[in-house]
Amino acid sequence: MERFFMALGSKAFHGRNVFKWIHKHGVVDFNAMTDISKRLREQLQQVAEITIPRLALEQPAQDGTHKWLLELEDGQRIETVYIPDNRRSTICVSSQVGCALDCSFCSTARQGFNRNLTVAEIIGQVWVAARELGEPPSNIVMMGMGEPLANLEAVITAMNIMQDDLAYMVSKYRVTVSTSGIVPGLKRLREVCDISLAVSLHAPDNALRDQLVPINRKYPLEELIPACREFVRGDKRRKVTWEYVMLDGVNDSLAHAKALIRLLEGTPSKVNLIPFNPFPGTEYQVSPADRVEAFRMRLKRSGIIATTRKTRGDDIDAACGQLVGKVKDRSSRQLRFERLDSLKQGVS
Ligand code: SAH
Repeated sequence: MERFFMALGSKAFHGRNVFKWIHKHGVVDFNAMTDISKRLREQLQQVAEITIPRLALEQPAQDGTHKWLLELEDGQRIETVYIPDNRRSTICVSSQVGCALDCSFCSTARQGFNRNLTVAEIIGQVWVAARELGEPPSNIVMMGMGEPLANLEAVITAMNIMQDDLAYMVSKYRVTVSTSGIVPGLKRLREVCDISLAVSLHAPDNALRDQLVPINRKYPLEELIPACREFVRGDKRRKVTWEYVMLDGVNDSLAHAKALIRLLEGTPSKVNLIPFNPFPGTEYQVSPADRVEAFRMRLKRSGIIATTRKTRGDDIDAACGQLVGKVKDRSSRQLRFERLDSLKQGVS
């Protein structure tokens, strides 16, 4: 913004002021920016515009979770989720329209991929949330649609704005990026942005993880785990949060728990067990609650902090892995799944 104003022949500090008007005060009309001269406001109106995602639909769930369906300038739609919890308010932000990765248990994956979101479209979700809530959220998780590390530069800029004193002022410990494990992205991220890290692990060995999170074939566990350990090194408050979706009979046995304990040895870790959220056509089933609890207790006994994520917003399809927006798929994935589904129906 400073550069933009200097290029206009104006002063850098106007850039900071306009930035603050937009993000701190939610003002997107140049005329209402009262500490800017009339002449500069007129100039701005001619050369610039402030666009925000259009709130196409707001859906409240019974538990207080809200899903916001946002429409972008090109008609694409993305989803942002608001999850209130006592004094905490968390928003779950999308980084892409659809997702190019092909995790077998995720419904976003099924829609395929259309495009990356811009910085404006990512931070625009926070802008809308702050306006709807009347204040910035206390926590932001990059856990909506898309793989944030596959759109890294835009995500980094947006996450820096989330923390900026002139904008949303969210604490660095309360901005979390979740990745399926794009190792080179982790290295770059650590150099330029101070945030918390969550990794979608879901399996304790390569053979199983190759099936569930196919990006593992490119960046296997022996590369991923050290890169994550490196990410939290040097800050005692930091731990890697490992997300682990519990799939009935697939990755939820005590043997898996033991293998997981061995894998995480030496890495400051928290494990977040996620009950599987089913969607039409999926081959997976939910692990029974007692098996999830036994798994959690096994981790706990070995000294690993382990929690079970409370499923939120599932009655409006706002829970993990249920975000679908409306993606014009550019891969052939939707077609492939439609064919598969109709084949299955034919068989049954
Ligand atoms: N692509 C990033 C960001 C998405 S975060 C990542 O993979 O980390 C969304 C989280 O929900 C991920 O941990 C993902 O693995 C998990 N998830 C996906 N589908 C799910 C489902 N059907 N049930 C429960 N969790 C799911």
